[in-house]
Amino acid sequence: MAYFDYNATTPLSKAGKQALVDGLESYWMNPSSPYSESAQVHNVLQESRSALARRLGKLPSEIVFTGGATEANNSILSYLSENLSEGKKLAMCPFEHPSVAEAATLFMNERVCGIKAHADGAVDLDHLERLLESGEVGAVSLMAVNNESGVVQPWQEVVQMCRDFGVLYHCDASQWFGKCEGGDFSGCDFLVGCAHKFGGPKGIGFVGLSPNSHGFRGLVGGGQEEGRRGGTENVAAILSMIASLEQAESDLDTMKTQAEFRDRFESVLRETIPEIECIGKSATRVSNTSFLIAPKFENIRWVRKLDVLGFQVSTGSACSTGSTHSSALLDVLGFPRNSGMRTIRVSSGPETSSEEWLDLATAFKQVWKELLGSDGQGNSQVISI
Ligand code: PLP
Repeated sequence: MAYFDYNATTPLSKAGKQALVDGLESYWMNPSSPYSESAQVHNVLQESRSALARRLGKLPSEIVFTGGATEANNSILSYLSENLSEGKKLAMCPFEHPSVAEAATLFMNERVCGIKAHADGAVDLDHLERLLESGEVGAVSLMAVNNESGVVQPWQEVVQMCRDFGVLYHCDASQWFGKCEGGDFSGCDFLVGCAHKFGGPKGIGFVGLSPNSHGFRGLVGGGQEEGRRGGTENVAAILSMIASLEQAESDLDTMKTQAEFRDRFESVLRETIPEIECIGKSATRVSNTSFLIAPKFENIRWVRKLDVLGFQVSTGSACSTGSTHSSALLDVLGFPRNSGMRTIRVSSGPETSSEEWLDLATAFKQVWKELLGSDGQGNSQVISI
């Protein structure tokens, strides 16, 4: 099998696995318990917090561990709904991940205004500036990298714009880590990431706060995370997340080489299926992602046939797989509504080889031929006897 769905989730990295096992064996006690052995667990937890804070340009006290990015984004949107001043809105693109977009609908109701995007999928900064000048915006949500197209958003410029206009900035950077280098996150008032996108376990993530995000509170319960997220911390998963992040960031040079393989895949694909569209091709994209619109046939048929041939790809974000809705991203980019039914997302990892990419292109060719059938139009009838 060749796995091409790294934007949905990644296999556990070697370093992440070791740290997880060590954590489960040695640091299983509750970090909040009152005896000395659990104080060791608490120390390990705090060391992890400091390591993550250093990487993100935050203070350790500004890191809140969560059960993943969905929880983090929901908590932030809930906080914003209660803390934005009267009359102020959240500005965001409709193609934020559903854990932001749906949470905005749930918590913010009418208090959302849309930011336009360019045809390549990058946010329109001039439009954002006009919204900020209008004075109606109290906060901006803009993801660092789009999970479907892999387009890198100009979030560092947005940090500066938000500073200049004195509004809060929420950055879902779940798809940034392990794919992009560096990034100064110190100016993000709410920064979100999750381990399973960069070789860590599922169900663990973080929020990075700033001095502007005072009073933030996610899940209520016990007083863990300084009262900002109730629930016993999953220390083993946190250790694994930190180890995986370090590993992923040291593998970034290898990850970069994926761009060459991906680009070759796309050009071979276009030779076979000239009408195929590659979303975000003219924008800055992460090296591992190719988001395609097939000219014909529902994406699930492509995905199933590619699966039979040994290639795991997805129709779009994992959360929308199986859904019949159009993609919010394609709606914004002006594609016809039914094109969301024909999207196929291919996303690789640092170890994906050039051969695997070329084999995938060959598999696409085979599936295209099969779907077109004997009449070359995809209209051939199968007669049951
Ligand atoms: N945000 C983005 C951009 C994502 O790609 C994902 C993953 O699907 C999430 C949030 C949700 O992350 P989690 O699975 O940790 O809840």
